[in-house]
Amino acid sequence: MRLTFLGTGGGRVVVMKQLKATGGWVLEIDNEKIHIDPGPGALVRARQYRTKIERLTAVVVSHAHPDHYTDAEMMIEVMTEGGRKRKGVLIGNEHVINGGDGYRPVVSPFHLNALEAYHVLTPNRKVRIGNIEVLATETRHTEPKGIGLVFKGSRTLGYTSDGEYFKGQEKYFQGCDYLVLNVLRPKGIKWPKHMNSEQAVKLISAVKPKIAIINHFGLLMLKAGVDKEAKWIEEQTGVKVIAAKDGMTINLENTPEGLGKWIR
Ligand SMILES: [Zn+2]
Repeated sequence: MRLTFLGTGGGRVVVMKQLKATGGWVLEIDNEKIHIDPGPGALVRARQYRTKIERLTAVVVSHAHPDHYTDAEMMIEVMTEGGRKRKGVLIGNEHVINGGDGYRPVVSPFHLNALEAYHVLTPNRKVRIGNIEVLATETRHTEPKGIGLVFKGSRTLGYTSDGEYFKGQEKYFQGCDYLVLNVLRPKGIKWPKHMNSEQAVKLISAVKPKIAIINHFGLLMLKAGVDKEAKWIEEQTGVKVIAAKDGMTINLENTPEGLGKWIR
């Protein structure tokens, strides 16, 4: 299983000023290649970091905030060879696919038609992409229908998406080998409906994955130092914690070089 981060930025200032890239991340698992939350610049970052996005088999958009969806149509175009081949799967929450409550659908009917299939997921619902089972989890975020995800194949990876920690969140991620958390704020600084380092500690302690990766950093998180925060979370939880970097590819298998070895 490999992850490639086409961006590690989150929060308005970091996104608008592109202090970090914001292209989402790509999960390679059991012959599937899934682009998750393709935000502003996803296409450009994929080219910059030489990620082979022609091989994408699915695009997943966890909620209808622009830093998670703006390049979704572009990635569908790449996946379907410009709409010429009916290929690939899109998974989104209710607002991403259907709009409503002040949100509009983020993907046009043209692009939906280019896909092999698309699915609206709500918490506790599952779909399959090839041999992978994808489960939607609940979030507590300013986008009220946002979902987190669990990808279950030969290994299991959980993704919190945006949102603050809540009691019971861990039940969705039990048994996850790896956990990706969107941690917008450092320890000591709260932002309602967004996760900070203390809340990450709570979730990681309850789930006990082999590796946790923190991502989607806001300005105050960058100022605090993402590696410092990762180290602090690691000390509190006893779980290996890695702060994602723009353009980083990481192999999550237990290789001879060690667990969670960076490839680049
Ligand atoms: Zn959001």
